[in-house]
Amino acid sequence: MIPSRGYAALSAKSPLAPFKFERRDPLAHDVVIEISHCGVCHSDVHQVRDEWGGSMFPMVPGHEIVGKVIRVGSKVSRFKVGDLAGVGCLVDACRECESCKAGLEQYCEKGWVGTYNSLERDGKTVTQGGYSNAIVVDEKFTLQIPSNLDLSRVAPLLCAGITTYSPLKHWKVGKGHKVGVVGLGGLGHMAVKFAKAFGAEVTVFTTSESKRQDALRLGAHHVVLSKDAAQMQAQASVFDFILNTVSAPHDLNPYMAALKLDGTMCLVGVPDKDPSIAGFNLIFKRRSLAGSLIGGLPETQEMLDFCAKHEILSDIELIDIAAVNGAYERMIKGDVKYRFVIDMKTLA
Ligand code: NAP
Ligand code: ZN
Ligand code: ZN
Repeated sequence: MIPSRGYAALSAKSPLAPFKFERRDPLAHDVVIEISHCGVCHSDVHQVRDEWGGSMFPMVPGHEIVGKVIRVGSKVSRFKVGDLAGVGCLVDACRECESCKAGLEQYCEKGWVGTYNSLERDGKTVTQGGYSNAIVVDEKFTLQIPSNLDLSRVAPLLCAGITTYSPLKHWKVGKGHKVGVVGLGGLGHMAVKFAKAFGAEVTVFTTSESKRQDALRLGAHHVVLSKDAAQMQAQASVFDFILNTVSAPHDLNPYMAALKLDGTMCLVGVPDKDPSIAGFNLIFKRRSLAGSLIGGLPETQEMLDFCAKHEILSDIELIDIAAVNGAYERMIKGDVKYRFVIDMKTLA
């Protein structure tokens, strides 16, 4: 076993604190990655605080992982020691079902293995995430990181990036489309960058007037303060597609009303309470409410390569690991610009 260090929550009520644990020695297809940076996703907060139920403790969160390969198993073919590598939200899946065969491992019919707070396929071992010095992952679930990029700004692409890229691609967002992005946080700010890069006209819906200038700088064409009823009403029947990234319970109906005929709102945010929708809001104008879960391995690699080519990276605040509990408090208040990333050197 490999002695490992990280930050863990021991219960849903306790703050993250230094923690020692063990990882498996690399199997034939595994790589060992020394983690240089790990992004802080709002899903980490939801799970550490057991807001979705079923959390397992102790929990080392973190699924926006980048670093360097320091060991490889005997049958590893895509990586060698010294290569840059990334790990996102999933570290295994059945590899045999229709979804897995299609490269949509996140929709694995037998259930995929999360990077943390999940059981390995042996049904016993609990996975531990990237707020740690190193991780052991099958190379099939490891991403190649283009070498020309600032690693600290790449880390958030592994979840916030792919989670917004995938639905924008699936719903074929592009030139001539009016796209709304609800919530300007980690996911939202990546959605703005991708939607702009795909050629859409982008509107940010935010509760934070203070983010207006940033929204425009990040590439939005318009900004709507969602608390202002008059501004919201002016958006009626405007949008082809809305990506909703909000992490807290809120009324979806004003956003459904902002879709035009046949428009779709896709939820990626997962508040701890289910929303309610007025049927008329769907029926009139044949609107759709949809959802999307992260992205599969092939699409995640495609997204990373797209980002390298178009120089699309996350806007981040780099923090010491000891500051992570304070970062959670700021995220919960919507005060994030626009992703906290842990500098893993500070784990010393
Ligand atoms: P984040 O950085 O905290 O951003 C969420 C944003 O939502 C906030 O910055 C804020 O933006 C807005 N917001 C917060 N509270 C609100 C409220 N009460 N009413 C309206 N707006 C509010 O979070 P994130 O990391 O981007 O994650 C967002 C959500 O996506 C989380 O629920 C997370 O678990 C989920 N997620 C889902 C997937 C998936 O596969 N579907 C993957 C990753 C994350 P403004 O200040 O602009 O209003
Ligand atoms: Zn995430
Ligand atoms: Zn499968």
